[in-house]
Amino acid sequence: MVKNTHFYNRHENYAEPSAAIVAVAGGAGFLGSHLCTQLIENGHTVFCIDNFHTGRPDNVEHLNSSDRFVLVHHDINDPMPTEMPKFDQIYNLACPASPVHYQYDRVKTALTCSHGTLNLLQKAAADRARFFQASTSEIYGDPEVHPQTENYRGNVNTVGPRSCYDEGKRFAETLVTDFGAQHGLTTRIVRIFNTYGPRMHPDDGRVVSNFIVQALLGEDITIYGSGEQTRSFCFVDDLVEGFVRLMNADSGIDGPVNIGNPNETTVNQLAEQILEMVGSKSKIVHHPLPVDDPRRRKPDISNALARLNWSPQVSLHDGLAETIAYFIEEMSTSGRRSSA
Ligand code: NAD
Ligand code: UDP
Repeated sequence: MVKNTHFYNRHENYAEPSAAIVAVAGGAGFLGSHLCTQLIENGHTVFCIDNFHTGRPDNVEHLNSSDRFVLVHHDINDPMPTEMPKFDQIYNLACPASPVHYQYDRVKTALTCSHGTLNLLQKAAADRARFFQASTSEIYGDPEVHPQTENYRGNVNTVGPRSCYDEGKRFAETLVTDFGAQHGLTTRIVRIFNTYGPRMHPDDGRVVSNFIVQALLGEDITIYGSGEQTRSFCFVDDLVEGFVRLMNADSGIDGPVNIGNPNETTVNQLAEQILEMVGSKSKIVHHPLPVDDPRRRKPDISNALARLNWSPQVSLHDGLAETIAYFIEEMSTSGRRSSA
């Protein structure tokens, strides 16, 4: 089993049940597979529910040897299968996250965030399960407030190419909040900022995976726009630790919580760092900036620090080193040759 290699000190505002039965919708995706791994390590039984749109059974293959892990091929837009057990906790990560993938079928993306989330909430109500919603920094749109605090309400285009995702996730926040209040459920909402790490799909389309794959193959590095737009990149192990803390925090969590790494970097700086770490001779080319691409993004994580005693532990350099090593291995087994 792949172990979490980073050590985190838990704290007193934390009451993770032992041997819980946990559903992870979207569990075969990038983030979901790491969450499933952590939950199995923590002693729980995990039902990983996925339609394999962007996720892969391979991402959770290492968990198949555990008799506490069950992989269920299911689309959350359909009613939950009746043979499911009673869950103690439900994490909803099911939604394509890369702009390329969530724009592939925009109507389905919007419905997965709305109807799909409702199906999972209804199961949570029937089971009296705690419900966790993966929201996103995209709900801030192209932000006019920097860094972004949870009480900033965002600057989102309702009818642009990103709207199915941005507005879908905004609606999901509303639905989870109102459903929770009406049904007396404990709910958690995490606003995730750009996260990277092993098990990203080589064709995922997001910037970290694109640049690493391009650098390893000696292909052109595709910077969209001037490259002066910023993002703040969080390593996946840090994020998953934040998820588990937020789900299990026993008090004082009202509303959404930002989880991300506040270390802001331009896309140009990211490209240079990856080129240097890979030792690649790839050249940089510029492509047009996608419509509504946010210009700046950086989380204010005071809330996570105060309420969860959480802050990221892994530097961009160390996280990239692990991610590059993963892609070298992944590409050698899939037959794509690295030229670096
Ligand atoms: P991902 O695409 O790797 O994972 C999403 C998973 O959900 C995949 O396994 C996919 O097959 C599954 N899925 C999609 N639609 C489904 C449906 N209708 N029914 C069942 N399964 C479905 O993406 P990820 O990066 O792991 O993101 C996971 C969650 O975190 C998403 O909800 C995303 O919006 C959110 N998020 C991620 C990031 C990030 O930087 N990775 C940032 C913000 C928010
Ligand atoms: N980006 C880029 N080249 C790529 C992929 C993305 O320059 O090959 C840019 C993209 O325009 C955005 C940033 O990198 O400004 C982050 O893009 P990503 O798709 O990873 O995440 P998001 O836009 O959802 O933050």
